[in-house]
Amino acid sequence: MKSSQSIIKLLLILSIIYSPFNLALALSPMSAQSSKDTLVFKGDADFPPYEFLNEKGEPNGFTIELIHAIMQELNMPYKIELDVWHKVYQDYLDGKVDVITSLAYTKKRSKMFIYGPIHSYTQPNAIISKNNTPVRKKKDLIGRTIIAQNSDLYHEILANEVNVKLTDVEQVSDAFRLLPTIKNGVVLCDDKLARSIIYRYGFKDLVFSDIDIPKIATCFAGRDEEIIDRISHGFATVKSKGIYNQLTNKWLENDDVQKKLSIFYAIAALLALLAFSLYLFVILLRRRVKENTQEIVNYVHQIEEILRFSEIDLWQYDLKTNQITIYNGSHEVKAKMDTGAYLTKLLPEDREKMLKRLELLKQGTNTPFKFEQSYLSESGKVKYLIVNGSPNYNKELKTVKYAGMIRDITDLKEIQFTLNREKEKAQQSDKLKSAFLANMSHEIRTPLNAIVGFSDLLQYTDSAEEREQYIKIINSNNELLLRLINDILDLSKIEAGAMELHFQEFKVNTLFDNLALSLLPRLEENRAVQLLVNHPKENYCIYLDYNRLVQLVTNFAINAIKNTHKGTIEIGYTYHTNGIRVYVEDTGIGIPQSEQHRIFRRFEKVNDFVQGSGLGLSICKAIVETFKGEIGFTSEEGKGSTFWAWIPCKVIEKED
Ligand code: ADP
Repeated sequence: MKSSQSIIKLLLILSIIYSPFNLALALSPMSAQSSKDTLVFKGDADFPPYEFLNEKGEPNGFTIELIHAIMQELNMPYKIELDVWHKVYQDYLDGKVDVITSLAYTKKRSKMFIYGPIHSYTQPNAIISKNNTPVRKKKDLIGRTIIAQNSDLYHEILANEVNVKLTDVEQVSDAFRLLPTIKNGVVLCDDKLARSIIYRYGFKDLVFSDIDIPKIATCFAGRDEEIIDRISHGFATVKSKGIYNQLTNKWLENDDVQKKLSIFYAIAALLALLAFSLYLFVILLRRRVKENTQEIVNYVHQIEEILRFSEIDLWQYDLKTNQITIYNGSHEVKAKMDTGAYLTKLLPEDREKMLKRLELLKQGTNTPFKFEQSYLSESGKVKYLIVNGSPNYNKELKTVKYAGMIRDITDLKEIQFTLNREKEKAQQSDKLKSAFLANMSHEIRTPLNAIVGFSDLLQYTDSAEEREQYIKIINSNNELLLRLINDILDLSKIEAGAMELHFQEFKVNTLFDNLALSLLPRLEENRAVQLLVNHPKENYCIYLDYNRLVQLVTNFAINAIKNTHKGTIEIGYTYHTNGIRVYVEDTGIGIPQSEQHRIFRRFEKVNDFVQGSGLGLSICKAIVETFKGEIGFTSEEGKGSTFWAWIPCKVIEKED
């Protein structure tokens, strides 16, 4: 691998006189070992990292340390000299050198040198200036100028394959100095040597080609077989002690280690890439999970809000524990109880139905269901609910739970009840209206028929007595008809809310005295009944509708007169802080218990033989209700009755 122009010349000579070469060497009396006792090693002074002169000018490098180690083993005196390569060769030829420190092995050379053990390998590489045509294979060297130290070696490598121009330099570092000046030049030398020199001298803008040229062995070489043998022996010892490995590791970086390291780095890079991809994947996954989780959270929140505003609860019935749990929209437990306790919360009429439903559920029925149901809340208020649900299965598809929703429909139910009530009322009122009309026409027709009939009879009778009797009947029926029509009109007015009220301040005692006077003529026919007026001591004023109060008490009193044949009829009143209580008490025929419930209904008469329209008490009730008061009576058959009314009004204390 290493040569110079001198070597080329020498090799040319040797190639001509090959046979005598060995002889000449063998016979040469100028063996350095034999002439002096010190073994002389010589090598290239600028061939890092193998051999070079350090800053102090001392030989250093891989081969140098290896020689030191070998010679230490051999325990022989020696010296190492380094010089420019052609001088090394010259000294060798002059017999001043025993061993060349590093000589690349070639077939040609092996005939001229005795090679010692291989101590390293040279890996030729092509280095070009940046921006030059790249070199990827040997053919790329065709026509280009190869700058090399040892033209012989590279010539030998390349000559048979490619047509190149060779330019020799004395030292390898010169090749790199020359490279920028040669167009399309290529430095061809050992890869490690090139890197070492570039690093040492700071050459820049170079490109390594990694051209595929086989490695070449580098050995100790000399002419004395014995010396080379001894060196080989020493080398083997050094190797067996591990010193050689230490040196290669130190200077040349073991290829195996390098390879292993490369594989290790590749695996590490792959693992790092994998880890990074995994990390990215996890990050993306987490982001996705986060987004999806957020979506779910929003969705659940919306459902919770909807459930809350819709007054919808959720429920669950666990068949195993027999527990019913009710949750609010936020899934907080509102109530939890077993089925027995649950049944007690229902209205009695719903319990039986629910019991049957629970039996079905316990059997594991798997059809969804929906039903209406009552529920007694904690406050004791009855709530109405719509319950729907469906089964939940376990892995074996067996029903283990039921779950669903409960909707509070109490408001709707109340509206429904009100509507039903109103409907019934309307129907009732319709019926009443028809009955009222039927009754009214009947009641009107009776006196009218009497009036028409007896008026007709008048013209056919000459008897003054009969005439007088007919006229009396006609008058009585006139009065009855008039009263009836008045009552009907009054009642209609009151019920339609069209009754005109005239509030005024008046003394109640005076009202009762006047009332008694107006009633007396009605009692003249029956002397067995006495009319009493019961005044309180105080003669207070009240603020009320005078005529309506008179109408109320008169109706009570006329009824009493009609139904009392002996004893007393007492009319009276008492004051109260916020109103007045009027009453009419009689010792008359009384009202049987069984008839008392229909006394205030229109056209209801207990005794058909007693004159009357059956509207008087209906009018009284309507008047009292207009004033937001109360009306009632107590009665015992054969003993008498007391009719009363309490009317709220302002009571004003005024002394006479
Ligand atoms: P009428 O105009 O027929 O009296 P009311 O509505 O005033 O109709 O009374 C209804 C019925 O109540 C009467 O027909 C009568 O049978 C009964 N009644 C009312 N007041 C008395 C009373 N003081 N004693 C006995 N029965 C009474």
